[in-house]
Amino acid sequence: MHIVILSRNRELYSTQRLIDACKAREHEVTVVDPLRCYMNIVPNAPEIHYKGKKLEGFDAIIPRIGASITFYGTAVLRQFEMTGVYPLNESVAISRSRDKLRSLQLLSRKGIGLPVTGFAHSPDDTDDLLDTVGGNAYVIKLTEGTQGKGVVLTETRGAAESVIEAFRGLDAHFLVQEFVREAKGADIRCFVVGNRVIAAMKRQSREGEFRSNIHRGGQASQIRITPEERSTAVRAARILGLNVAGVDLLRSNHGPAVMEVNASPGLEGIEGATNKDIAGHIVRFIETNSKQGKTRTRGTSG
Ligand code: ADP
Repeated sequence: MHIVILSRNRELYSTQRLIDACKAREHEVTVVDPLRCYMNIVPNAPEIHYKGKKLEGFDAIIPRIGASITFYGTAVLRQFEMTGVYPLNESVAISRSRDKLRSLQLLSRKGIGLPVTGFAHSPDDTDDLLDTVGGNAYVIKLTEGTQGKGVVLTETRGAAESVIEAFRGLDAHFLVQEFVREAKGADIRCFVVGNRVIAAMKRQSREGEFRSNIHRGGQASQIRITPEERSTAVRAARILGLNVAGVDLLRSNHGPAVMEVNASPGLEGIEGATNKDIAGHIVRFIETNSKQGKTRTRGTSG
């Protein structure tokens, strides 16, 4: 097969591992920077151009689209889908997962366990918003944040009110969640490929920090997950329409609570913590599932 990897930088660990895995299984592989693609939108003859040439002849595409380029990255991916190239994750599913509110709504509709969550823009009634979430300790998140930025723990109601007031002034959307104290500063990353969790790691926050992000000093280690956690992760990925996903869970008193479903999960942390060949799994999944024009939505918005 000829596989294209949509990535801004071929030197990144995940991109490099995917290139190696494609080559190890004797596929041709090309890395394309989505921001340097340009496209012509004409009836029935979609084309993608790159560095002065038309791109064609690919069987499958692995999108590695960072959060900061979701808009253009998914547009380029959609164009590939329109030309019949099989996407590992579809553009529609990636856009869905990047919208935190939308993904939580979709997951809750299907009964997936979530931290109790309220969301708002500029509420007049902070009291009622906090009452709907319940308890006294809250995690308040700006919906645009990544790597734990804009995620604040407030241990008292008064502190929560002040933070909400500050966020309101920013003209931003935010979530208010119950603080899952019993998770003890740990979360679980389940790496889903198809309908299986192929690897799982625990991230434990450092002393005095509730966020377990590796960028904030969290430590990763392999973990055995329960059947319930496994099925929650697989269902969450399927509901958003992702073949490959990093599903982040908290162990809460009311069962596994999904915090986030990541459409371009990094390979470095999970391969390091589990010693598994995740990139190889991904390429094997493509071999089994790819077919010309097999995009479910074929680049439509559905
Ligand atoms: P980001 O997407 O920016 O990483 P997250 O929503 O994943 O933000 O939050 C960062 C970290 O904070 C999580 O990995 C988790 O350890 C912790 N955390 C987030 N929400 C909660 C919560 N409701 N209860 C307890 N810990 C939380």
